[in-house]
Amino acid sequence: MGRTSKDKRDVYYRLAKENGWRARSAFKLLQLDEEFHLFQGVTRAVDLCAAPGSWSQVLSQKIGGQGSGHVVAVDLQAMAPLPGVLQIQGDITQLSTAKEIIQHFEGCPADLVVCDGAPDVTGLHDVDEYMQAQLLLAALNIATHVLKPGGCFVAKIFRGRDVTLIYSQLRVFFSSVLCAKPRSSRNSSIEAFAVCQGYDPPEGFLPDLTKPLLDHSYDFNQLDGPTRIIVPFVTCGDLSSYDSDRSYPLDLEDGSEYKYTPPTQPPISPPYQEACTLKKKGRLAKEIRPQDCPISTVDTLSQ
Ligand code: SAM
Repeated sequence: MGRTSKDKRDVYYRLAKENGWRARSAFKLLQLDEEFHLFQGVTRAVDLCAAPGSWSQVLSQKIGGQGSGHVVAVDLQAMAPLPGVLQIQGDITQLSTAKEIIQHFEGCPADLVVCDGAPDVTGLHDVDEYMQAQLLLAALNIATHVLKPGGCFVAKIFRGRDVTLIYSQLRVFFSSVLCAKPRSSRNSSIEAFAVCQGYDPPEGFLPDLTKPLLDHSYDFNQLDGPTRIIVPFVTCGDLSSYDSDRSYPLDLEDGSEYKYTPPTQPPISPPYQEACTLKKKGRLAKEIRPQDCPISTVDTLSQ
């Protein structure tokens, strides 16, 4: 596959590189903001599951905070530094990471918490949805500690079978909950974003990190009839923006001429790094085919 073929197949990947974003996901947050004005009046924000950092780039450019620490970015993976962004490397489902984030906002709460977290997808839909829901709930739990009243929470969700339970939980804490699908998120993906505005926890609610919000003994069948919450579904990014499921010719419709752009921030420690180093040194194990072996070793190999 040539290095330009991904540019052709994925117009947002290409535009991200050309606009200096570290990932195509930047357009999802920008299109969500176009629709919901997420950044209005925001000076302090948390970006959970932030690597490689395109949402943090957007936040640090769009919000009115001053100096380092107005955006706190958290991820399992190391992330190349960004000006004005304080980084925490850790697992958001772990108490120690949550405490570190919360400490940062003590006495000075955040206006916005975003989470674009995605587990490594297994292809087993129920497992993937469950893992995604756990990430979202870990993010929500952190949000209940750091958000100021009226604050906003945006998180990736998988629109699976039990998404209603998640909407119900979100509605407990926010006056408005919507499900949004930006144009830059492929139609073929079950991904969408819960946009929760107006943080307003129930009276007497005390955030508690030791209690997961999702009650595992909950009877899912109770979510039928009047207790079933259906939230509005909004598509965002206007119709003139590019369709993420289409391939576009390399010269774009606006007449701009194609020129290959390398990624804005190459991965800093990709999982395939060791294989690349071994390959450079000629030490990557090659497949051994029986026809390449001397006769005496063929029997041993086939055992
Ligand atoms: N919003 C990012 C951007 O614009 O560059 C892209 C986020 S990427 C789709 C999902 C990220 O979730 C990955 O970097 C992954 O390491 C992170 N992640 C998954 N599980 C996590 C966890 N338990 N704690 C922290 N980060 C996690």
